[in-house]
Amino acid sequence: MTPLRLHNTMSGQAEEFVPIEPGHVRMYTCGPTVHDYSHIGNFRTFLFEELLRRVLLQQGYRVTQVMNLTDVEDRIIKKAGERGQTIDEFTEQYVEAFFEDLDMLRIQRAEHYPRATQHIFEMVSLIERLTENGHTYVADGSTYFRISSFPRYGALAHLDVSGLKAGARVDVDEYGKDDPRDFALWKARKPGEQSWETPLGVGRPGWHIECSAMSMQYLGETLDIHAGGVDLIFPHHEDEIAQSEGATGKPFVRYWLHAQHLQDSTGEKMSKRLKNFSTVRDLLAEGYTPRAIRYALLTGAHYRSPLAFSPELLKAADSAVKRLDEFAVRLGPMTPHPGTPPQGGREIQGIPPTEVLQRWDDALKDDLNLPAAIGHLFEFIKTFNARLESGKATPAERAAAMAMLRHANRILDVIEFPEAVDAEVEKLIAERQAARDRRDFARSDEIRQQLLRMGIQLDDTKDGTRWKRVPLPSPSPRGGGS
Ligand SMILES: [Zn+2]
Repeated sequence: MTPLRLHNTMSGQAEEFVPIEPGHVRMYTCGPTVHDYSHIGNFRTFLFEELLRRVLLQQGYRVTQVMNLTDVEDRIIKKAGERGQTIDEFTEQYVEAFFEDLDMLRIQRAEHYPRATQHIFEMVSLIERLTENGHTYVADGSTYFRISSFPRYGALAHLDVSGLKAGARVDVDEYGKDDPRDFALWKARKPGEQSWETPLGVGRPGWHIECSAMSMQYLGETLDIHAGGVDLIFPHHEDEIAQSEGATGKPFVRYWLHAQHLQDSTGEKMSKRLKNFSTVRDLLAEGYTPRAIRYALLTGAHYRSPLAFSPELLKAADSAVKRLDEFAVRLGPMTPHPGTPPQGGREIQGIPPTEVLQRWDDALKDDLNLPAAIGHLFEFIKTFNARLESGKATPAERAAAMAMLRHANRILDVIEFPEAVDAEVEKLIAERQAARDRRDFARSDEIRQQLLRMGIQLDDTKDGTRWKRVPLPSPSPRGGGS
């Protein structure tokens, strides 16, 4: 069997993936800063991480995924202060919006979403361990990590740290640092800021320490996988390594995975700073469907290549999703047992479903190459459609094709299968029965008409209501309709 191979930023190579604990993957993914709506560039990264999660699950692993919510940070403190709110009051709306957007895009939930503000003391004790190990110093009430005490600094970003300049996120108020490369672990309270009283003094954590503290709390001192966007490699992930390994003396992460940027149509990185971004909400308001957005961000390019976001990309995604829906409908409502591998593929001319399933899996195991997998899927759909049109496809072949489509959809999660329609029909029939029971015949008739418009005809028998598919009624000559 082809092993799963993942590109590790640390080695710069694709490596065979083997978790520490057989059968169980422990994975940390840097989450949103909840000071605003996340933009779709962030969701490209979250969807890449979800792709990884789904591939691992499909490989039979149990996955424990942690995604932090950064709810204490300069912009949050500033905005909350301006509105006279506490951090919790200010961030709550954006935490809620984040989960709504995840659900909208059908992004599977991680096992844990720890919030920074609820883990202050774990961060403090991690900083205390770093102090014991000689990695910190205090200046003007703030505690800093001394980079010169950690010789491996720069290994992930493949940086020569000797010439390293101060990073973009360096706080201009941090005058007291011995070396501009050093970063704050704990920041002394400034007037008007929300703060915590701790053994380190009154203040708040720096941004980087939360990920080290929370990842190790939930996943142990060595994680299998740590993922994020490429912009986090330096300094954030480099700092996480220094903090975690400086405290434990153990390797922090075995596989580092990073997704490339989403770009606007001019090739510029989408970012809050450049104001060239859209939110999921903006796109929905423009009339795009959540399924098209999911498909575009997930399949538009391999996760390690930049993806240019454009209306054309969304339109192409929308028509691809429609083609997948149509294929599911053409294969009919036969439902093979879940998890049954496709059978009887041999007689099929063109690509047998078992073969395309193999190609699909192999592409995903090759560093999550979903665009290649999608190519195999659509090639198969094209040839199988021809077979369906020729009338030669047997029920067994159709079932095998359907099993392949379901297999693909366990990763894609964009297809509306006919049983989704069936479930809707059953729901309406139950609702109609309830209306009849309370002698609300107007409502009952309304539901019958609604079903007819869906191509479903009802037949009331003494054993209950049966239904069958009938040709869709032609549009009313009077136009309009209801
Ligand atoms: Zn992080």
